[in-house]
Amino acid sequence: MSADNAWARLRRWALGCWPWHARDAGNDIPDALWLPVWQRLSFLHLLSPVEAARLRDLAARFLRQKEFHGGQGLPITDEMALDIALQACLPLLHWGPGALDWYGDFVVVVVHPDEVVARREVVDSAGVVHQVRDTLAGEAMAGGPVMLAWSHVASADTDALRGHNLVIHEFAHKLDMRHKPLGSDAAGCPRLPAGYMGLSAKAARAHWQAQLQQAYEQHRQAVAMHQRFGAEAPWLDAYGATAPAEFFAVACEAYFVNRQRLAQAHPALCELLQAFFEPAAARARPSA
Ligand SMILES: [Zn+2]
Repeated sequence: MSADNAWARLRRWALGCWPWHARDAGNDIPDALWLPVWQRLSFLHLLSPVEAARLRDLAARFLRQKEFHGGQGLPITDEMALDIALQACLPLLHWGPGALDWYGDFVVVVVHPDEVVARREVVDSAGVVHQVRDTLAGEAMAGGPVMLAWSHVASADTDALRGHNLVIHEFAHKLDMRHKPLGSDAAGCPRLPAGYMGLSAKAARAHWQAQLQQAYEQHRQAVAMHQRFGAEAPWLDAYGATAPAEFFAVACEAYFVNRQRLAQAHPALCELLQAFFEPAAARARPSA
């Protein structure tokens, strides 16, 4: 079901008759809508006024470009759409005017009231096909829609203490899959900007993969020690130990909602992500 809310109406109208570049996008979001959503998401309050204005602008453009569909009869309000847009756009904050192109391979965001059960076929090493049931809080596919469970989106503020954020997790998968050959899966290595960390493209990719793999192995080991031997649980979500792509998505969640805690647990990983998400700041930093 497509939400016929103010955003949908605004989008149809704007696409038809008003060129985007002629307007101040942030003004499209009325204060009465902006303020309650902004206040609820306290992890955004560390942004500077300039960054907050930029996020508002990005969110307005995101809302124009995307369509929100409520699953199982869930009505999508303007507040819900803005809530999702703000979180989805947070990773794009320092990537300049073309940043939304990273989300250019899809239009639809499907929001279910709660987790959904998906039936899948899995082929084992002997070639036997098994029917499995997965419970999903969210899903992102290359070239396809993003699915989110509203119950998880709604708890974003309290989840931030644990470094969790469903919206950022799924949109990090989108970043990971974007600008790659069609059919490529997320692998934990998004396309890196030119000059990433002052390295050539080849060296930058090698550096990224080595650093991410090292942090991933460290996390896997910590999770295994906790699960098998009762050692203290690592702070970062154990789900990140299931695959490098999930580790990247889980690390992005923590980076955007509780960076201080991530930097304590994985300082090198935090630096790697900062150089990706804030390339100008990384270039300006004096080398030590
Ligand atoms: Zn995932």
